[in-house]
Amino acid sequence: MALDTPLRRLFDYLPPAPAGAGPEPLPGMRVRVPFGRQRLVGTVVAVTDSSELPPERLKPILEVLDATPLFDAHALELILWTADYYHHPIGEVLAGAIPKALRLGVGATETEEHWTVTPAGAAAHAAGEPRRAKNQRALLEVLIAAGGSARAALLDERGENWREAARALQARGFAGRSVAALERAAGTVRVRAAGPTLMPEQDDAVQQVGAAFGRYAAFVLEGVTGSGKTEVYLRLSERALAAGCGVLVLVPEIGLTPQLVARFRERFEAPLAVLHSGLTDAERLAAWRDARTGRARLVLGTRSAVFAPVADLGLIVVDEEHDGSFKQHEGALRYSARDLAVMRASLAHVPVLLGSATPSLETLHNVDAGRYLRLRLLRRPGESRPPLLKLIDLRSSAVESGLATPAALAMQRHLEAGGQVLVFLNRRGFAPTLLCTACGWIAPCRDCDARLTVHLAAARLRCHHCGAEAPLPQRCPQCGFAVKPVGQGTERIEAALAARFPTVPIVRLDRDVVRKRGDLEQVVHRMVSGEARILVGTQMVTKGHDFPNLTLVVVLNADQGLFSTDFRAAERLAQTIVQVAGRAGRGTRPGEVLIQTEFPQHPLLQSLLEKGYDGFAATALEERRQAEWPPFSRLAAVRASARTREAALGFLAEARASGERHAAGLRLLGPVPAAMAKRAGRFHAQLLVESRERRALHRFLERWVAEIGALKSAQRVRWALDVDPLELF
Ligand SMILES: [Zn+2]
Ligand SMILES: [Zn+2]
Repeated sequence: MALDTPLRRLFDYLPPAPAGAGPEPLPGMRVRVPFGRQRLVGTVVAVTDSSELPPERLKPILEVLDATPLFDAHALELILWTADYYHHPIGEVLAGAIPKALRLGVGATETEEHWTVTPAGAAAHAAGEPRRAKNQRALLEVLIAAGGSARAALLDERGENWREAARALQARGFAGRSVAALERAAGTVRVRAAGPTLMPEQDDAVQQVGAAFGRYAAFVLEGVTGSGKTEVYLRLSERALAAGCGVLVLVPEIGLTPQLVARFRERFEAPLAVLHSGLTDAERLAAWRDARTGRARLVLGTRSAVFAPVADLGLIVVDEEHDGSFKQHEGALRYSARDLAVMRASLAHVPVLLGSATPSLETLHNVDAGRYLRLRLLRRPGESRPPLLKLIDLRSSAVESGLATPAALAMQRHLEAGGQVLVFLNRRGFAPTLLCTACGWIAPCRDCDARLTVHLAAARLRCHHCGAEAPLPQRCPQCGFAVKPVGQGTERIEAALAARFPTVPIVRLDRDVVRKRGDLEQVVHRMVSGEARILVGTQMVTKGHDFPNLTLVVVLNADQGLFSTDFRAAERLAQTIVQVAGRAGRGTRPGEVLIQTEFPQHPLLQSLLEKGYDGFAATALEERRQAEWPPFSRLAAVRASARTREAALGFLAEARASGERHAAGLRLLGPVPAAMAKRAGRFHAQLLVESRERRALHRFLERWVAEIGALKSAQRVRWALDVDPLELF
């Protein structure tokens, strides 16, 4: 039995007493059990006839909550595997995999309550009974008039308090109550309109993945934006649905990729279950139930949807598989939904399709190793040339408000030719720093090792790491001299471009603009309709929006990712540049991409320019191999935070000492403070474990995690284990 406790173990219980009352507990069913003085909802993981505890110390299950298992065998296996691989308490993994209402014991299926007249009740009614109880007699009449039975909801609609009378009739044996699963018609699926004729590469991808239906196989669908990956997802989904199977589609962020969900809705006339973090508890429960019963055969969702029940699962799609948001890197259980999707496909014997224009190096390594099959969509329909990438040397160009002269001239040219321009800068706000030019004071965040960002329109200073806010001061709080914003943010670039191109309408796309549902669509619409000609945006612009008339992309600053202590920074930068460049030159117009940098000779930029993402990936993988970084080794990080530096580092030093005793063949690196050590008033640090061999790492972790948890210093910190960490300090 798994219970939602931080204890890394299962609990034994006896079957409910008396035997035979209610359904028999099976793996995957929820039960209510006594736990100390509490009553908890748990999930049966296995049924055995032995226990380490003597029988007299075992307590019976109080109640079995489900008539059929909540998780099918594969889904339950996935959860057990997750707990095992990420070294996380099984009860918490299970609890996190289901909607909140189910954790509290609410029924997994929608039910309906009925009240039915018994033969004795009918006879009594015929005899004019019960004479003295007016309400009971009235209720009997209603039930008989309704054909002998009525739904509770119908009785509620009468507006009277009928329950007391109903219970009295039940006590007399005149009426009975029953609860039955609500029968909803299983989802019918109709394809609204046939899709466009497939390009040969698309057709080939559909054939190859289609041929793997019914068994496990992993495919990488590689294609730039606009190459038609979504059409491949749609065709394969069509096939799976036609075979009576369900489809699970994982996307990085629903809010930022409304187009994909919209494409599925347009193509299929069928109920869709859409699962993401923006749902209310009730909405999540409804979507989860629809997925489980098969009413919705298409299940789309973000990260946590990898655990969603999908009736008769036949295909898994992970769109934008390289996206960092598939990795949960907050909280206790830090899993990769992309990796779990592949594991789920293997457990369920179904094909999985990982789509991206810029596959992660891990995924490409799996291709090299023959574990995944690579399918490529090279051509963009109706377009001949890929966009042309060029570097602009910031050291030898005049720069005004962040924009170098050659870039400004190119913008002019493209705008005059009727094109649209995207200006990319991955930093929102007006300026990243507020500086006093007299005394050198810089507006700091009180709770982080970070500067406050100037938001001029809102007249606020904001910390992008902890959310702290302050009014924008006019004068230096230290010396009283005037302060000035230093550096560029999207808000400032927008203002500078408006001054430079006064007649050209500009829109901005970042988290300050997109605050609620519909904001994003509005910005996208203004660009697509041609009303706006210049788009200034952050990372958000890389998320699969089509701007067919966009001909020029300017990357204002590529240098943030070039010199980082995190070995993945270069990969992320290359992916961002390729994804942003992918916005240019859709349709028939050729695109141009200008990348501003102070390091035009940097090998990463050079390999990207000369050989494209493929060339970059080959170079980067070779570097990783030589340095023995993942995917050529396995990593786990213990991350800790505390009120003081001493507490966080002290705990990690003890953790290291304890691990060193049995770390033969492994490397322990650290502890080190985070690059931004202080965040939101807490001090952050990490300790890395590296192993060339996955199994050795997990044998080590198994023992080590238990040791760490038992350390006294663990009480003074918040700590979590991060297996396969994506971001390093
Ligand atoms: Zn000052
Ligand atoms: Zn802060």
